[in-house]
Amino acid sequence: MAILKIVKYGETSLRQKSKEISKISKKIKILAENMIDTMYKNNGVGLAAPQVGENIRMFVIDVSEANEPYNPIVFINPKIIKKEGAAHAKEGCLSFPNAFVDVRRYSYVKVKALDLSGKPFIIEAKEGSLLARAIQHENDHLDGILFIDHSRNIFETIQALEENKLPEIDKSKLLDEPEIEEILANKADNDE
Ligand code: ZN
Repeated sequence: MAILKIVKYGETSLRQKSKEISKISKKIKILAENMIDTMYKNNGVGLAAPQVGENIRMFVIDVSEANEPYNPIVFINPKIIKKEGAAHAKEGCLSFPNAFVDVRRYSYVKVKALDLSGKPFIIEAKEGSLLARAIQHENDHLDGILFIDHSRNIFETIQALEENKLPEIDKSKLLDEPEIEEILANKADNDE
């Protein structure tokens, strides 16, 4: 077991697109185990390979509750094959210590990936689940996209980064997500 150093916001590897994994070597398996240990050590629910300086398409997630057994899932070469609905919540990232901001997400996703033995699997993450959120967050890391790019309130994000002495937001990376925002706006109207 080894705890890996987590790359912090501002370092270039977080903005790079990661490569597909062509062979699940011993090295990849050890990296996955170390990523799981590093995620637990830092009380995270997910960790992507670029966050430990490896620009390859792999991430780990464990959304089990404190009173449940550990349930780490390794995703290799993942693809989100279905996404629906809209959600928003405060989210954080191990590469952004202590910064939490309100971000847009789809509420449901279906993802296809390979496990550590190279076997394909499909996971459907329930509407509004933490798993759905975590899959989108970690999958984004493989394309150099960060959670702050999904910010709903740019001023809140600027402040959260500043308060935690993190580099400034790159506004050119902000995502315009009208399809999600429209559903959220309708939901808000209905709630009134
Ligand atoms: Zn992250």
